[in-house]
Amino acid sequence: MSSPNKQTKTNSRMSKKKVSPASTSHRLSPHVRPERYRIHIEPDIPGGTFVGTAHIDLLIAKPTREIHFHANELVVHGAELESSENLKPHTIGYDIERESVVLHFEQPVSGAHTLALDYAGKINEHLVGFYRSTYTVKGETRHLATTQFEATDARRAFPCIDEPSHKATYELSFTVEKQHTVISNTHETAMTELENGKRHIQFAPTPKMSSYLAAFVVGEFEHLEGRSKRGVRVRVNTTPGKKHQGAYALDVTLRILDFYETYFGVPYPLDTLDLIAIPDFSSAAMENWGAITFREPALLVDSKNSSSAIKQRVVEVIAHELAHMWFGNLVTMEWWTHLWLNEGFATWMSYNAMDHLFPEWRVWTQFISNEYAMALELDGLTSTHAIEIPVKHPREIREIFDTISYLKGASVIRMIADYLGEKKFRAGLRLYMLRHAYGNTETEDLWDALSTVSGEDVRAIMKEWTGKPGYPLVKIKKHPKGLLVEQERFFASEVERKVSKDGTLWKIPTTISIGKETKLKRLLLGKKRELLPIDWDKSSWVKLNFKHSTLCRTHYDEALFLGVKEAKFTKELKARDRIGFLGDLMASARSGVASNNDLVQALNWFADERYYTIWVAISGTLGALSGLLSGTSLEPAFKEYARGLYSPVAHSLGWKSKRGEGHLEAKQRGLIIGGAGIFGVPEIVREARARFEAHAKHKKQIEPDLRSAVYATVALHGGEKEWKQMLALYDETELQEEKSRLAQAMVLFRQPKLIARSISFAVGPKVRLQDSVHVLVAMARGNDKARQTLWNYLETNWEKQSARFQSGLTYFARLINALLSGMTGPGELQEAEQFLKKHMWKGGERAVAQAIENGKANTAWKKRAVRELKSYFTKGK
Ligand SMILES: [Zn+2]
Repeated sequence: MSSPNKQTKTNSRMSKKKVSPASTSHRLSPHVRPERYRIHIEPDIPGGTFVGTAHIDLLIAKPTREIHFHANELVVHGAELESSENLKPHTIGYDIERESVVLHFEQPVSGAHTLALDYAGKINEHLVGFYRSTYTVKGETRHLATTQFEATDARRAFPCIDEPSHKATYELSFTVEKQHTVISNTHETAMTELENGKRHIQFAPTPKMSSYLAAFVVGEFEHLEGRSKRGVRVRVNTTPGKKHQGAYALDVTLRILDFYETYFGVPYPLDTLDLIAIPDFSSAAMENWGAITFREPALLVDSKNSSSAIKQRVVEVIAHELAHMWFGNLVTMEWWTHLWLNEGFATWMSYNAMDHLFPEWRVWTQFISNEYAMALELDGLTSTHAIEIPVKHPREIREIFDTISYLKGASVIRMIADYLGEKKFRAGLRLYMLRHAYGNTETEDLWDALSTVSGEDVRAIMKEWTGKPGYPLVKIKKHPKGLLVEQERFFASEVERKVSKDGTLWKIPTTISIGKETKLKRLLLGKKRELLPIDWDKSSWVKLNFKHSTLCRTHYDEALFLGVKEAKFTKELKARDRIGFLGDLMASARSGVASNNDLVQALNWFADERYYTIWVAISGTLGALSGLLSGTSLEPAFKEYARGLYSPVAHSLGWKSKRGEGHLEAKQRGLIIGGAGIFGVPEIVREARARFEAHAKHKKQIEPDLRSAVYATVALHGGEKEWKQMLALYDETELQEEKSRLAQAMVLFRQPKLIARSISFAVGPKVRLQDSVHVLVAMARGNDKARQTLWNYLETNWEKQSARFQSGLTYFARLINALLSGMTGPGELQEAEQFLKKHMWKGGERAVAQAIENGKANTAWKKRAVRELKSYFTKGK
C-alpha cells in the first residue's frame, strides 16, 4: 500500500514532562515488549470521537521508571500496571516529536505486567488512523469509520509500540450502534445486544503480527461470500446497494488464494478473509491481515460500465494485497528500511498471479512498458535514492512508499528470479517463509535463502542493486575478438551525465542472444570494461538483456543497432525486446547518449505494429516528443507525423469490437483511438464528437473501453457545451471509476475560461480528496495550455492547497513533478524553483529536487531535439 499523511500536533490536556535525553532516537525502548493487546473501542461516528480501553500484556526486560508507547492525538485518562500492587504512574506525559505517551513511575518496574489504559481519540477526516468516510444511498448522506495504519498510524487508534518488529496478538472488541456491523482481522466470536440499544462485538485473537496490520471498519455493509478450496471464508463487502459490483473480485480472490497456497507451500494463516470497498481511501488498497481495505475502483467492477483496464487493475491490486498476506504479514520487515522487500515482492508476485489466471493478458510484457519503464525513469535521476535507505521519522517513512520501493523493487526481484530460474527462486521463497514465519527479516535474509537453494552468492550479486542509487548503462560494440561491453551509471539527464563522478560498478546478471539460431547465453558482468569472446559474425544480430529482465539501459554501436533493426523486421525480436529496445533508445536520446534522429528513425520501424503493449511504448514515446516540441516550429510537422503513425492502426481496428476479440484488443482500441483523437486525426475527432453527443443525450452509450479516449478527444477539440455535458454526466453517475474518467477529461479543455473552471471543479466539493490531486496531475500532464495557469493557481493558494493534500503528500509531490517536468520555456523553471525554495514542506525536499532535475533534463533535451530533428521534420517543405 502507499499512504502518506502529515504530522499533526498532539492534543494533550495532561501534564507535559520533559523527555529524557535517551529518547532522541525515533525507536522506542527494545526492553519493553508487548505480547498481547486487548482493546475495546466505542466510536461516536457523527461526533468524530471515540473512547477506548487497552489491556496490554508486557514484558519489561530491564528495570525502568518510564514506559513509552506510541500515541498520536490520543488522550490517556488513566493508566495502571495490574500487578500485585496495582501500580499507577505518578504522571502521564506526551512526547509530541516522537508521537508517544510516557508513563512515569516512582519506582523502577520490570518483569511481566498487564498495563491497563483508558483513553480517547478522534475519528478524523484525513484518511489516516481511525477516520470517517462519507457516501450517499439514494441521495441520503451516510458515514462509516475505518482504519488505515500503515505506516505509523495505529498510534492514532490505540497506544502501542508501533514498530513492525514488535509483533503481538490482538483481541479487539467494539461497542457500536445497533444498525452497524464491524469487520476486523479475524472472525467474530460473540455479539451481544445491549440495553442501551447498542451492540457489543468481540473478535477472535489474531496471530502474532505487527501493529500496522490491525484494522477495523464500522458501518453498514452488505457482502458476497464464497469459500476457497480449503474452506477459508471470503467476503467482498460494500456500502449498501453495491454488492453486485463485488462479484468479479470475489471470483478472482478465491482463485488467487488457491494459487498462492500452492505457490508458497504455506496455507493462508487465517480462516477468514474480508475485502472491503471504502468510498474515501488514500491509496489503492491496504493489506490488513484478513481485512483488506480498498478504494472502490480498485475492487468494484460494474458489468455495464467498467473498462478492461479497470478489471486488470482490480486483479492486480487484489493479487498484490493477497501476496502481502504471506510476504509482509506472515514474514515482516524488521524496520521500514526494508520496506521495499514487502512492496517490491508483492508487485512482482501480482504479475505472477495475473499471468497464472489470465495468460492471454501477457502481463509480463506489460510489466516492461509499465513498472520497469517507470522504475528506470525515476532511478535515472541523481536525486533518486537507494532501495534500502535509513529512515527514522514517520515523515521519512511515508516518503519511501514510492516508485523506487515498489517498481525498482519489483524489477530487481524479477531480475534475480529470472537469473536463478523459476524453480530455484520459488524453492528459495519457500525456505524463507519456513525460516521466518511470524518473525521479522532484513533484505539479506531473502538473499541467504536464495543462496542456499541456488548455490550462487546472491548477497554479492545484489549488493549494489539495493544499496546504491541508480543502475548501469551498458554500451556494447563490435571488437575484432568478439564484443566489447562497458558499464557506467545511467543518467536520465544530459546535464547530470556530464558532471557525474559516480564510479559504481554493478554485478549485472543478464543474458545475450545472438541471432535467432544461437542459444541464449547467461552472463554476470562486473567490470568497467570487458571483452566477451563471442563469435557474433555468423549471425545477423546481437541483443543484450533478453526479455529485458535486467535493470539497465543498453546502447549499441551503429553496426549492432542496424542488426537489431534487421531482427525487428524479420520478426525475430520478441515483444518484450522490441518494447525494451524502444525504451532504451528514448531514454538514451533524452540523456544525449543516442541521437533523436535515431529515435525517430526507429519509431518508423514500428509503423506496422499492431500489438497493444508495444503501442503503449510507442504512444509513450510520441507523447514525450509531443510535449517537448509543443510550441516550437516543429510542432505542426511532428503532429502530422504522429497522425501518420496512428491513422492506419486506428482504421484497421475500427470502432466496433469484433467477435472473439480479447482483453488486449479492447485495451488497444481505446489506446489507439485516444492517441489518434489527441493528435487530431480528423475522422476520429468527428466520430468521437458524434458518439459523445449520442452518449450525453442517453441515446447510445459509448463502450466502457472507449470512454476515456472519446472524452479526452472531445475535451481537446471541444468547448463550453461539452464541458457542461461532461459535468452533467459526472453528477449523474454513482460509479467512482466513471467519475474519475470524466474528471480527468474535463481538465483537458483548452479555453482559458474552461481551464479556470476545471481547476475550481478539481479542488471543489464534488471531487473526493483522494481523487483531487490525480485530476490535477492529469491536467498538468495532458494540457499544455493549462500548465502555467495551474502553477499560478497553486502559488496563489499554496497554504490552502498544500494543507488540503496533507494526507497524500507523496501524491502532491507527483503534481509538482508533472508541472515542473513540462517547464521548458525560458525562465519558467527557475521561477518555480525560487518559489519552492521559500515554500518547501517537510519531507518534500527529495521530490522537489526530482521535479527540478526532470525540468532541467527536459529543457536540455528540447534544445537538442529541436536542433537534431529540424532537417527530418522540415524536409520537402
Ligand atoms: Zn503493498
